[in-house]
Amino acid sequence: MAEKTFQFPTYFKLLLIIITTLGKIVTAEEISAVENISDKLRNDTESLWKVSRDFGNIVHEVPAMVFHPASVDDIANLIKSSYSSPVPFAIAARGQGHSTGGQAMARDGVVVDMAALRRERKKKGVGGISIDVYGEYVDVGGEQLWIDVLNETVENGVAPISWTDYLYLSVGGTLSNAGISGQSFRYGPQISNVLEMDVVTGTDVFVKWIRLLYSDFSAFTRDQERLISIKALDYLEGNLLMHQGPINNWRSSFFPLSDHLRIATLITKHKILYCLELSKYYYHHQSQENVNKEIEELLEGMGNIPGFYYEKHVSYVEFLNRVRSGELWLQSQGLWEVPHPWLNLFIPKSQIMQFNSGVFRGIIFKRNITTGPVLVYPMNRSK
Ligand SMILES: Cc1cc2nc3c(=O)[nH]c(=O)nc-3n(C[C@H](O)[C@H](O)[C@H](O)COP(=O)(O)OP(=O)(O)OC[C@H]3O[C@@H](n4cnc5c(N)ncnc54)[C@H](O)[C@@H]3O)c2cc1C
Repeated sequence: MAEKTFQFPTYFKLLLIIITTLGKIVTAEEISAVENISDKLRNDTESLWKVSRDFGNIVHEVPAMVFHPASVDDIANLIKSSYSSPVPFAIAARGQGHSTGGQAMARDGVVVDMAALRRERKKKGVGGISIDVYGEYVDVGGEQLWIDVLNETVENGVAPISWTDYLYLSVGGTLSNAGISGQSFRYGPQISNVLEMDVVTGTDVFVKWIRLLYSDFSAFTRDQERLISIKALDYLEGNLLMHQGPINNWRSSFFPLSDHLRIATLITKHKILYCLELSKYYYHHQSQENVNKEIEELLEGMGNIPGFYYEKHVSYVEFLNRVRSGELWLQSQGLWEVPHPWLNLFIPKSQIMQFNSGVFRGIIFKRNITTGPVLVYPMNRSK
């Protein structure tokens, strides 16, 4: 008997895991009012009963509504509507409902029936399973069933390497608890074979971005080191301001034009200023006030120069892409294609004060060397 051989890819790329939001009671009227998605909500007895139980049949929680998404956008809109309601309501994705402890239930909230999305994709012929044999991965919607992933991949001569014993479970459902079986000892659970995952959050991420000025290097590094040790921030750097360089360097413009003179006067007085830069991400649903309060507490007792505090609220993408605008400006001025001497150094904490007096003050400042950006910030050695 000839044995069929399959090519087994090393990795399995998964995509699109949905939501998980929590909150409080919602009324049917509240959700029904949401534009674009209200026609996908059900609250008839049969629909509610079906999602109020699971394989365990021990926990029974009745939601206010069941949601039948036709697209990922529908799900994002539902989550957005929860965030924008005065009290966010609970949302739970339900794959096959084969949990045993009510994990896919949402008392008084909304259960998203992922099978509806699966049906809709099938109807439209969009599949939700796309195989890249040469890339050795398969791109799968969280609503898909493992049995379908198996059938489609095997047809192409490949297959994922880590499984669950039973295959009529949804991809999102098993990944939410790792997906363990007899292959795990060798390949790890299913979740360890995921290359990439899209998470539908329905929220936008913003950044509170702050700069503080210091004249005293030891206060500057002390505050930097304290802040990275707390791990409450998402980003921390620092840079030098000297009269040889522009106040807003090309890497990012930050200080308002109206304050340039004040800052320049301060630089003349202190020769070098140290600028501590930090940011904290926050989600649309979190009130900006909470972040403001958190940062305010974090910055209490810092040694920066009073009255020279600058902040911005920007989008996540704008923040991460902050260097690009400077690059474009330099290009437009014909200043990009110039020599770029560049030096990166890791300096032990024990030597950082000497580095400041020897290099920043002793060489760059004293010899009046024109500088581009000089960044200085601490790292945790363990990272
Ligand atoms: C007969 C049987 C055999 C089983 N064998 C195994 C096994 O060998 N190995 C193993 O690891 N497990 C096994 N399980 C357990 C099973 O993997 C889990 O209960 C799994 O969560 C069920 O998948 P589901 O699609 O029914 O998910 P559900 O029960 O519907 O949901 C489970 C959780 O996942 C969340 N979720 C579902 N879909 C998504 C999504 N798209 N995005 C984000 N979150 C989502 C839900 O909100 C919930 O929190 C078995 C279960 C049964 C009933």
